[in-house]
Order: sequence, then C-alpha cells, then structure tokens
Amino acid sequence: MRPFDYHRATDAADAARLASAHPGARFIAGGTNLLDLMKVQVEQPAQLIDINRIGLDRIEDEDDGGLRIGALVRNTDLAAHDRVRTDYGVLSRALLAGASGQLRNKATTAGNLLQRTRCPYFYDVSKPCNKRVPGSGCSAIGGMSRGLAIVGGSEHCIATHPSDMAVAMRVLDARVETVRADGSTRTIAIADFHQLPGETPHVETALEAGELITHVTLPPPLPGRHVYRKVRDRASYAFALVSVAAIVSGDDRRVAIGGVAAKPWRMEEAEKRGGADAIGDALEAEARPTEQNRFKLTLARRTLAATLTEASA
Ligand SMILES: Cc1cc2nc3c(=O)[nH]c(=O)nc-3n(C[C@H](O)[C@H](O)[C@H](O)COP(=O)(O)OP(=O)(O)OC[C@H]3O[C@@H](n4cnc5c(N)ncnc54)[C@H](O)[C@@H]3O)c2cc1C
Ligand code: SF4
Repeated sequence: MRPFDYHRATDAADAARLASAHPGARFIAGGTNLLDLMKVQVEQPAQLIDINRIGLDRIEDEDDGGLRIGALVRNTDLAAHDRVRTDYGVLSRALLAGASGQLRNKATTAGNLLQRTRCPYFYDVSKPCNKRVPGSGCSAIGGMSRGLAIVGGSEHCIATHPSDMAVAMRVLDARVETVRADGSTRTIAIADFHQLPGETPHVETALEAGELITHVTLPPPLPGRHVYRKVRDRASYAFALVSVAAIVSGDDRRVAIGGVAAKPWRMEEAEKRGGADAIGDALEAEARPTEQNRFKLTLARRTLAATLTEASA
C-alpha cells in the first residue's frame, strides 16, 4: 500500500471542505472495498478523508411516509431496522444476501452503492483495463467474461455492478442526496446514479469529484409482496450471477435485475406488458452476451419466473 495522509472530518460540510482542499482525495467509510483496492494499488489516493464521525448514521421517518437513510448507516442496521423489514422487505432481503455478517457490520449505505466492479481484470494491475487506466483496453472482451454484463456494455467495458442493495434501491426508486465540494446540495434519482460505460468506463456514477453522499431516501412504501432472489456460484459469500428484486401487487409489478449490467437493470415498459416472459424477452432483445456469459439469459428468465411466482403467491 502507498503512503497517504489521513484526515478525520467532523461533519458533512467539513468533509466537503476537505475534499475541496485535497483534489483526488477519497472518502473512507467502512473501508471494505476501498482498502482492498488500495492494497492491490488499484486505488492510490494521496489523501484519505475519514467520514465515520460525521453523524449521518440515523434512519428517520419522512413526513410523506418514506424513509431517510444516513450515508453511514451500516448494512446490518439497515437490514434489521423495523420499518425496513416491514415496509421495504425487498431491501432487507437484498442486504442480507450480500457479503457476510462481519462485512455488513462495517459496510455503509453509501459505500455499498459506490463499491467497484468485481471484474477480475480490474483488480489485476498487470492487465489492460479501460476502467482502471482509460484507453488501455479491455481484457475481459475476448477474455474471462463469465460473470460480466450482457446488457448495457460497450466495446470499451462489459463490467457489472456487484451491489445487491442497489438492485433493491432501484426497484424502490430511491433517491441519493449529496453535498458537493463547494457546499451545494442536490438529489439524484437512483435510475440516473450509476452510469453505463460507453466510451468512459472510468466514470461510474453521476457524482462529481469530491461530492459526498449524505442520505438515501425511499419513497412511501409500495403495497405488495417484496422478494429478492440471488443466484450465485456458492450458496453464500459470492456475488450475484443474476439477481431479481420484485414487488408485486395484483397485476402491478416492479422488477429490477442485478448481475447483468453496470447498473441495476429495469425495463418498465416490459413490466407493464407482462410477467417473466415479457421481461425476459425484453432483456434478450437488448442483450449482447459473450460466448461465456450467454447462459445468463436463460438464468435471468428462470430467476424472473421463480421470483415473480413467489411474489404473486
Ligand atoms: C469478500 C467480500 C464479499 C462481498 N460480497 C458482497 C455481496 O455479495 N454483495 C454485495 O452487494 N456486496 C458485497 N461485498 C461488497 C461490500 O458490500 C462493499 O465492500 C461495501 O458495501 C462497501 O461499503 P463501505 O462502507 O465499506 O465502502 P468503502 O470501502 O469505505 O468505500 C467504497 C467507495 O465509496 C466511497 N464512499 C464511501 N462513502 C461515501 C460517501 N458517503 N460519499 C461519497 N463517497 C463515498 C469511497 O471513497 C470508496 O470509493 C463484498 C465485499 C467483500 C470484501
Ligand atoms: S470489463 Fe471493464 S473493468 Fe473489466 S477489463 Fe474490461 S474495462 Fe476493465
């Protein structure tokens, strides 16, 4: 690991000030992804800004019946929160499907949304990777691509986003609240938060340099049955090959698919047209799989069918 300077922020405004004073600095929350990346020198920040003592660790009811989640709320606490379990079951289930108990005790709401891809070449600094070194090439295209994207990729990158929580946040239409380095604030719809690779795979989110996530807000609860189903190589402690978050109430269904793209994938038109077949057909129509990950299309259809059957029961 390269040497770095350590700063401890006292509140969100202080964190924004420190980010503004130290361009290229990284915020550190749970550190469960950032520190791993620093150890293999994928990330080499000269400055770390510790945001663990800035507050933002509460879950509060909103006047409209929604929920406001602090950026530093740990995954364990969010999954176990009474209202999350009762009113946003899909989120609780997605969180508990991720990582391990120890990791969830450290991992934070914002850090989870911002975790980096698990593409093996991204972590291997001896291999070309456009996401790590823009313009260097993509080793996965023509290489090992089994776990990678089947939709939304580009000729420059076919990485997936690994978060389970983000898939549930997408089906719930969460909003991300931020403070920029200049102190101004804004709200970003989760649908617009993660970016597809296009020609700039290193640009992964709508965040600007030094922009801090302060909260994630959920709209008032949606009626219906909430289900999250994750399919992976091992029964636990593995990232999703395909996952499906669904909320079904009568003929109304909302579905987000994980493990297939650089962001949670939603196809609202297909949701209105029908169930698993309609959504599976729409996914297949957009898909550009490699030979190694073509199986994800069948897996997605089967996971959609099983999830929607369970949610409709
Ligand atoms: C072995 C292992 C297995 C795992 N399995 C799964 C799994 O199955 N499913 C899953 O979803 N995840 C899994 N994870 C990933 C884990 O969920 C993430 O590492 C964790 O959620 C990241 O949160 P953190 O608070 O530790 O982030 P950090 O590592 O502290 O930060 C991650 C990134 O977010 C930035 N950041 C953090 N907070 C903020 C903020 N408030 N504003 C702006 N930027 C911020 C940091 O600068 C950094 O770039 C696994 C991780 C490991 C190590
Ligand atoms: S898929 Fe993306 S992350 Fe993986 S090697 Fe290619 S550019 Fe890098």
